[in-house]
Amino acid sequence: MKKRILIIDNGGTVSMKRFEGVLQPVDGKEEILSLIYRIKRPVEIHYEKINSIDSSNLHPGLMKPVFNAIASNYKDYDGFVVLTGTDTLAYLSSFLSFWLEEIHKPVVITGSQKPLNELGSDAPGNIYYSIMFSCEDIPEVTVFFGKHLFRGNRVTKADSQGFDAFDSPNFLPLGHVDALHHEIHSPLESALRPNEKERFRFAWSDKAAMIPIHPGMKPELLGYLIKSGYRAVILEAYGMGNLPFEGPYSLEQPVKLALDSGVIICVVTRCYKGGVRVEYETARRFLDLGALFLRDITREAAYSKLSWLLGLYENNSTVRELMLEVLCGEMNNRSAISTWKIDY
Ligand code: ASP
Repeated sequence: MKKRILIIDNGGTVSMKRFEGVLQPVDGKEEILSLIYRIKRPVEIHYEKINSIDSSNLHPGLMKPVFNAIASNYKDYDGFVVLTGTDTLAYLSSFLSFWLEEIHKPVVITGSQKPLNELGSDAPGNIYYSIMFSCEDIPEVTVFFGKHLFRGNRVTKADSQGFDAFDSPNFLPLGHVDALHHEIHSPLESALRPNEKERFRFAWSDKAAMIPIHPGMKPELLGYLIKSGYRAVILEAYGMGNLPFEGPYSLEQPVKLALDSGVIICVVTRCYKGGVRVEYETARRFLDLGALFLRDITREAAYSKLSWLLGLYENNSTVRELMLEVLCGEMNNRSAISTWKIDY
């Protein structure tokens, strides 16, 4: 039986062209279709153009048509491939993983670092292998880029120009390709919720902020955000989740005030790899105040999860509880943390 695959084109470098020396989005449909027609596999591919956009201009409202294209065509296709720009790809893949929280079919997101119409482009391989993986039994939102298939809410853009632009620093790839194969490493592990009925819930809120902590950051910054109506703030902390609590730049007081007023404070690491855990006093003080330490989540997954939950629930205490739950494989579960705890 031929697999039916829908390609949803959301723009990005794949279909960009150079005008006056800089890359700009164009329609690009013909080039993508002529690549697809060369695929000699038992697969029937349909193509839908959603956006011609540099993904730096993307926001969750503009991601909604991508979600709609999957949700409204879900019954008619065996798998979905989403083409998008790499700059915000990890945000789109994270948002989609939450919006499509219970899904039984593969959604593979990809893009390219070099336009399809330029010699040496990485687009043909990325699109081809994404289509191959979208024909497999992988019931979740994934990202294919370079040589690897990753869980969608575990990726981050790791290289601004290299062809291996994406990495999943805290979670092993789900699959890889070489000259002879495309291989899924652990299909059963990747099946997150095989017995649940599909559930798709689109929601988002722009009342979530994210601040990269840096030495000398004015504590008032947090106060400005709260006054501006933000319901939740993610602090990208040093190392294992450490934040200043001494001296003129201490964050202890503003974090306390924010929490006392019902604002959610989340802590993730600024580091590329690893996660947060309470190992130092510089973390424990903030945990004791009520900040949420989000283990090994990426900033992209933390932001999209928070935005999604704030969009779904008016009540911050529900959001707070759910932020600590593993909803779509986006972070380690609590018990996994103890596997890397050294006891003294
Ligand atoms: N600026 C581009 C975009 O995100 C970069 C890319 O696609 O690689 O749309």
